[in-house]
Amino acid sequence: MDKTYEIGGKIFVLDEEKAVEAYNQKKVINGRDTMTFNLLPLKYQWAYDLYRKMKANHWEPEDVPMQKDLEQWKDTKDLSDAERWIIMMGIGYFSAAEGIVGDNIQHVVRELVTAPELKLALGRHAHEENIHADSLLYMISSLGINPHECEAMFEQIETIHRKNEFVTSASKNLRRDLDLTQTTNKQELAKNIFLFGQCMEGTQFYGLFGMILSLARQNKFPGIGQMFRYTLRDESNHIELFRNLFRVLIDENPDVWTPEFKQELVELMKKAVELEKEFIRDCLPVSSVGLSAEEFCTYIDYIADRRLNGVGLDVLNPGLENPFPWLAETIDVKKEQNFFEGRVTEYQKSSSLAEVSDDEL
Ligand code: FE
Ligand code: MN
Repeated sequence: MDKTYEIGGKIFVLDEEKAVEAYNQKKVINGRDTMTFNLLPLKYQWAYDLYRKMKANHWEPEDVPMQKDLEQWKDTKDLSDAERWIIMMGIGYFSAAEGIVGDNIQHVVRELVTAPELKLALGRHAHEENIHADSLLYMISSLGINPHECEAMFEQIETIHRKNEFVTSASKNLRRDLDLTQTTNKQELAKNIFLFGQCMEGTQFYGLFGMILSLARQNKFPGIGQMFRYTLRDESNHIELFRNLFRVLIDENPDVWTPEFKQELVELMKKAVELEKEFIRDCLPVSSVGLSAEEFCTYIDYIADRRLNGVGLDVLNPGLENPFPWLAETIDVKKEQNFFEGRVTEYQKSSSLAEVSDDEL
């Protein structure tokens, strides 16, 4: 019997019996194996909605003016060593990190999940990591930083190297053809999703987000600040996508959710926090430019607890308050909604104009 469905404001007529069968075969893992990308009927509506939300926030690095940033970067009188170091650490760390996240989505998570609407959202997520990586390239070229110097930081700055190792080691062994009928393998995937979504993007990105947005608040590096605001806005969707993915994976596979496994995840977050605090102290060896390493470390404890709580795990520091309420406002998705909606139209206009008026940029 045909039935009418409304999806994303569009009406579809589906054969009910076939639709129910297809629906029941959709699973996060071990679902129907198909190459035909059958989005309908949607089982994970939230993933489709998130895909549309992500797409509506599209941005391009080249639309952000970097003139002021370049002036400040060249200014040897007013720019402090501490500020210069934070910008270098920001560019150095994220140049590697964005690619690592994108690579893990494309080679692990998107390969192993089976429902097409989940793959759709993950494809957009991976594309946004490309945009972020491209924004770092744009910052490097705009400021005239030597890219090799930047790349060398991945190895030479011990705290960056350790953060990168922490996540890549959990990705390397989880490529295609993992037998996901085994509980231990399902746990490996769940751990990967928790590690990348909640520990890395959800927690370890926030030290630098806070530092760079603090500088932007003092009118320092406004172009870089704006790109980080766009990135942060994207990251909040990535964290949500991975949080939902994790929760549904656990719901569909309750064998994964043992007390030992929960403990393992909490320990993983502890390790992530420890690495992030070392990194923050490296970024801010002395309290300067109005930024204190200790406050940023407290902020990381606060953020980590929000992530743990979000996936149903016990928090590490109950009752901790956010030391940076202003940052919560920057992150607040609703407050920025109109701003970004306006921006999308602007982007569409300016991208067609950019072809004829390059010299105005
Ligand atoms: Fe990113
Ligand atoms: Mn991301």
